Amino acid sequence: MKKISILIPCYNEQESLPLLYKALYDVMADERVASKYDFEILLVNDGSKDSTLSILRQMHKDDSRVSYIDLSRNFGKENAMMAGFDYVTGDCCIVMDADLQDPPEVMFQMIEKWEEGYEDVYAKRVSRGKESWLRRTLSMQFYKILNKMSKVEMLQNVGDFRLLDRRCVEALKSLRETERYTKGLFCWIGYKKAEVLFDRGDRVAGTTSWSMWKLMRLGIDGIISFTTAPLHLATWLGLIISFLAFVYLIFILVKTLIYGDPVAGFPTLICVILFLGGVLLLCVGILGEYVARMYNEAKRRPGYLVREHNDKLV
Ligand code: UDP
Ligand code: MG
Repeated sequence: MKKISILIPCYNEQESLPLLYKALYDVMADERVASKYDFEILLVNDGSKDSTLSILRQMHKDDSRVSYIDLSRNFGKENAMMAGFDYVTGDCCIVMDADLQDPPEVMFQMIEKWEEGYEDVYAKRVSRGKESWLRRTLSMQFYKILNKMSKVEMLQNVGDFRLLDRRCVEALKSLRETERYTKGLFCWIGYKKAEVLFDRGDRVAGTTSWSMWKLMRLGIDGIISFTTAPLHLATWLGLIISFLAFVYLIFILVKTLIYGDPVAGFPTLICVILFLGGVLLLCVGILGEYVARMYNEAKRRPGYLVREHNDKLV
C-alpha cells in the first residue's frame, strides 16, 4: 500500500491541534482513501511556547500514525518544513497549516491528481480568508514584481498547501540553503504540476504569527534568493546617474565659460548631494542584503536542530 505523509509545522497551536486532529482523522477514515493508503501525520513543533509539545506527545501515544519532531527552538516555518521533509517517510507528502485554513477535504482532489501522475499538486486560493486590504494589495504587488524579476515563474495565490511526490521531496531535501523561501523552491524544482482550487478559510483558533514586518522580511528573502535583479538595478542607476551628471557637467562648464561664475546654486548642490547620497546608500544596502545572505550561508549552519523525535531524545 502506498503511504501518504501529512506534514504540519506547528508554532503555538495548542488550540488548533485537537480540531486539526479530528479533521484529519475524518479524512483518513473516509472510504475514498481509508482502504487504499497508509497514513502518517508528521507534526513539527517549531519551538512553541505553549503546551503544543505535550499535546503532540499525547497524540503520538493515542495514534501510532502520528509522529512528531520537536525542534530545539523556533526556527521559522520555512525551516520547520525543511525538517519535516527530512523526516517524512511516505510516497508523497502533503504540507498543510495547523490552523485548518487549508481545508482537509481538498486532499482528496490532490490525491486523485497524484494518482493521475502529477508530482506537485498545489492548492490555489480562490478567496483568501479574513485579511486586511493592505496585506492583500501588498501581497499582489509583491508577486507581480517578483515575477517580473525572476526567471522562475512564481505562482500567485498559491501557498505551501500542496501534495509533493517523493521525487519532489527528495529534490527539496537536496536544497540545503538556510535562508529559505520555500514557495519559490517549489516552483524552482519544476516537475509535473497540477492545481486544485479551494477557498481559504479563517484560522479556527489562535492568532497568526506573521506580523507585517515578518512578511516583509519573507518578501525580501523571496526576491533576494530568486533573482539578482536588484544588483543590476544598482548598476543601471549608477550608469544613468553618471550619464546625467556628465551632461550637467558640460552644461555648467559651458555656462561658466560664457557667463562667468557668480557663486550661486547652493540649493541645487544640496539637492544633488542628498539625492546621490540616498541612491548610494540604497545600492550599498542592496549589496548588503546579498552579502548578508552569503555570509549566513557560508557559515554552513544546519537549518534546524531536532531535540526530540517520537519520545526519543536525539
Ligand atoms: N508556523 C511555524 N513556525 C513559525 C510560524 C508559523 O511552524 O515560526 C506554522 C504555524 O503553526 C502554522 C503555519 O506555520 O501551522 C502557518 O502560520 P500562520 O497560520 O500563523 O500563517 P498565515 O496562515 O497567517 O500565513
Ligand atoms: Mg494560518
